[in-house]
Amino acid sequence: MKRILFVATIAVLLTSFNMPVEQRSVTSGADTLKQPQILVENRGNVVFDEYFTGKTMRLDFNHSGNSREEHFAVDRIVSDGPWPGNKFVLTDKLELGPYFFQVVDKENSTLIFSRGFASVFGEWQTIPEADKSWGSFNESIRFPWPKKPVIVILGKRDPSTNKFKTIWTTEIDPASRDVNPADLVHTNRVDVIQENGPASEKVDIVILGDGYTKAEMKKFKDDATRLSRVLMAQEPFKSRSKSINIRAVETPSEVSGVCKPHPGVFKRTPLSVQYGAFDSERYALTYDNKTIRNVASQVPYDFMVILVNERTYGGGGIYNLYTTVSSDNKFADYIMVHELGHHMAGLADEYYTSAVSYEAPDISLEPWETNITALLDKNNLKWKALVDGGTPLPTPWNKDAFDKFGYDIQQQRKKLREQKVPEEVMEALFMKQYEQEDAYFSKEKYKDAVGAFEGGGYTPIGIYRSQLDCIMFTRHMHFCKVCQQSLVSVMNQYTATAPEN
Ligand SMILES: [Zn+2]
Repeated sequence: MKRILFVATIAVLLTSFNMPVEQRSVTSGADTLKQPQILVENRGNVVFDEYFTGKTMRLDFNHSGNSREEHFAVDRIVSDGPWPGNKFVLTDKLELGPYFFQVVDKENSTLIFSRGFASVFGEWQTIPEADKSWGSFNESIRFPWPKKPVIVILGKRDPSTNKFKTIWTTEIDPASRDVNPADLVHTNRVDVIQENGPASEKVDIVILGDGYTKAEMKKFKDDATRLSRVLMAQEPFKSRSKSINIRAVETPSEVSGVCKPHPGVFKRTPLSVQYGAFDSERYALTYDNKTIRNVASQVPYDFMVILVNERTYGGGGIYNLYTTVSSDNKFADYIMVHELGHHMAGLADEYYTSAVSYEAPDISLEPWETNITALLDKNNLKWKALVDGGTPLPTPWNKDAFDKFGYDIQQQRKKLREQKVPEEVMEALFMKQYEQEDAYFSKEKYKDAVGAFEGGGYTPIGIYRSQLDCIMFTRHMHFCKVCQQSLVSVMNQYTATAPEN
């Protein structure tokens, strides 16, 4: 009845037994002629024990290409320890991120697991280097260990519609000799920061550290504890701290600090975190996917934070991959919370580059991120439930004065960078910006309202954010209501204690 059909195009049809048929716009991929048509039966969340063993399967693959094409090849399939995710919410209804994978039972075509994610390749593909050369990155997707053969379907958003379309499929037979069910023997030390219950009913965060020597392991533990407390003091985490487990895994380094190519500081550290990712001086990433996955899997984890033993301002956050934070910077608290917003809920940056004059861009698509909008349909604003009836859309604010101030700060920042000033000089500029932004906002009529404020997602005109201020916009330590709601929706996928339907 349900089988894999080998035809020229892909159409993944999701059906549900009790609900109307849902057509999902997963259509042809880059290698259209080679892709099979796969029928997918979406019956909602399946019974975990019917389909899964309780372990975690990790599919490592190489993701290569350039700005025009991308390709995938299986690297290896290994066990990543007990399944740490929820056993009731198995299909991802949020559909966040630029990529999305589905795991389908091969025999009866039932969708048994799905999740959205972002990747280093996906970001790299957008930089100018990808026009000229090829890049290749190792990536992983993790899902509960299936009892029977499955098909993994990987989709990417079609830039013309923002809907997912299949770009890769691969079959996995868990009984195959190519699948290694052995558990890794872990030898690193684990520090429990907070534990509130079983991994399958909690949000599990693992904290790793890079550039901490053996003598600095107490510092690592203190940094992990300090930044965990910062996170737990912010809503929406504050009122849900009992739903969150945090554990740290120690990986002592032979050298203190990490690689910083721009100022010519080169080092080799256990997790290979380095500044200067994509030639951006303050962007800290690691490309050593297998190492961080192996280290992290010593404990149950849904989300990963990597502390970088550096004062140099820097970090990064990639949806469902990891967050990096420079632990000694004056703004480490901000970096921790802001980057976790990207990592956990795929939140967009709400800031934009202030410029002297603007040209209106041509925006015809609604962004997929939950916290910015193109406001193409005012009556169906995606956060309209949070908007008070009296708030005008778009919502007026004194943008010109704010942008002029922002532009001046940017010019000063650029100059200081060129002068290679000590970190505390840059921190002082950020403090000045922090305080003056507060002063601007305090005078605004709609300073606490939820509406649609122009400027967001790196775009000064035509993209709107929901509130005047948010930690995704400035370095002020609070999420706007929409970002909070988005984070709660994600956390709910990890904390369910009973079937949804
Ligand atoms: Zn926000």
